[in-house]
Amino acid sequence: MEKAQIGVVGMEVMGKNLALNIEDKGYKVAVFNRTGSKTERFIENEASGKNFIPSYKIEDFVNSLETPRKVWLMVKAGFGTDAMIGQISPYLSEGDIMIDGGNSHFKDTERREEELKKGGILYAGSGVSGGEEGARYGPCLMPGGASAAYDQLETIFKKVAAVADDGTVCVFYIGERGAGHFVKTTHNGIEYAIMESISEVYNVLKNALKMSPEEMRGVMAEWEDEKLGGYLMEITVDGLGIIDPDTGNPLIDLILDKAGQKGTGKWTSQSAADLGEPVPTIDAALSARFMSAKKEERVKASKLVHGPSETYDEDKDIIIKSLRDALYGSMIVSYAQGLALLRAASIEYDYKLDLKEIANIWKGGCIIRSKLLFPIVEAFERNPDLINLIFDPEFSKVIGDWGMQTNWRLAVKTALDLGIPVPALQASLTYVDSYRSAFLPANMIQLQRDIFGAHGFKRLDKEGDFHIPK
Ligand code: NAP
Repeated sequence: MEKAQIGVVGMEVMGKNLALNIEDKGYKVAVFNRTGSKTERFIENEASGKNFIPSYKIEDFVNSLETPRKVWLMVKAGFGTDAMIGQISPYLSEGDIMIDGGNSHFKDTERREEELKKGGILYAGSGVSGGEEGARYGPCLMPGGASAAYDQLETIFKKVAAVADDGTVCVFYIGERGAGHFVKTTHNGIEYAIMESISEVYNVLKNALKMSPEEMRGVMAEWEDEKLGGYLMEITVDGLGIIDPDTGNPLIDLILDKAGQKGTGKWTSQSAADLGEPVPTIDAALSARFMSAKKEERVKASKLVHGPSETYDEDKDIIIKSLRDALYGSMIVSYAQGLALLRAASIEYDYKLDLKEIANIWKGGCIIRSKLLFPIVEAFERNPDLINLIFDPEFSKVIGDWGMQTNWRLAVKTALDLGIPVPALQASLTYVDSYRSAFLPANMIQLQRDIFGAHGFKRLDKEGDFHIPK
């Protein structure tokens, strides 16, 4: 029997759709899943009549592949990925390639690559973004790991990846070792920050302005047409229009306000802390998810501690305009923090990341694709060594625009006055205020540290290390 050119392991949402996408591009694809019934269902349904080789034993799966073999894992990150690698790798030979497209922690990826290298297996830890639809019709691919693996995978990757509105094929070799997964994790951190920023705006529109989902939909659809457009805004606008068939009510009003998470946002914050890089909007978005999970405690506390009335009685149009500017600012800052984190990681881990190319492939296929990424790419074209988006002349003009800043502050102030939490919108604004502060009160911290712990301090007027006079 003719062998398959590539194999996909994991017949859940991502693996199934990716396998169908690869097959659409003219490849024969081998498929395997730990639970064989899922492979069987896939072959009988979505894959029926298509060019697939199903296997129910790992040995058969590996033998169904052309050499050098290309095995693309799309399984649960962590233990699931280690388990599959442990079971498949004994059947692989020197020169075979293993791709991990799951949301793996970059340090796990580096460990796995080192282990597989001993047997001559090329390991490509690769981020995949775009969810179910992306996997099926074109994800953004962030491949990392062995460059020799990428050389052999480039043709397939380019056929499978999304194509952005300007024709950019959304795949680029990110860098060695865990670089691909580091970038994917950071992508998800930015995703958390933008999602939280949008949700906070929704909360103010709902609770302060008492707008219905349909009214909000109209407002956000206008923003979506402007500079704020992107996939996350698009699904927000669409989502606000979904009606629950059982009750006839807007679905959003029936969804429990507890957000889930699978860990990539947490890893972004943890990595940023390891690198000493401030990402307060991402941190705020993460904490907001933790806070949302405390539903029962929040309900109890809401009866104990009262705040101001949440209703806003003044000019609604001004607040709507202010919220738009606050959201726009917070989106810019979310990308700025994520990209600054990538820059810090690139230096620390010697990943040699090309931030322009990373922003470029994020323009299509992935969850954070947006209109904003186009000027972000231009900013890195103007200056490939840009330390922070805020230093780009175009972005500093936007952020520094007095009207925009005044509106952003008004949106945050109004929410604070009404007792409506806006941690991400506020963290983004504070990030800008801190970043543009030539002076921060860290002199006081240093004084306190020296008083209680003799940690010492530097002085503005003299060179050297000093302690408080005894
Ligand atoms: P998932 O629910 O994350 O994982 C399910 C798959 O993992 C199944 O094939 C399952 O096999 C396998 N698996 C779990 N534990 C295993 C173990 N101990 N040994 C062997 N196989 C095991 O599925 P998914 O949502 O399709 O995601 C796949 C990967 O892509 C994950 O790493 C995920 O983080 C990443 N990802 C997901 C999305 C998304 O939108 N869903 C987007 C980007 C990336 P069984 O059927 O036998 O249980």
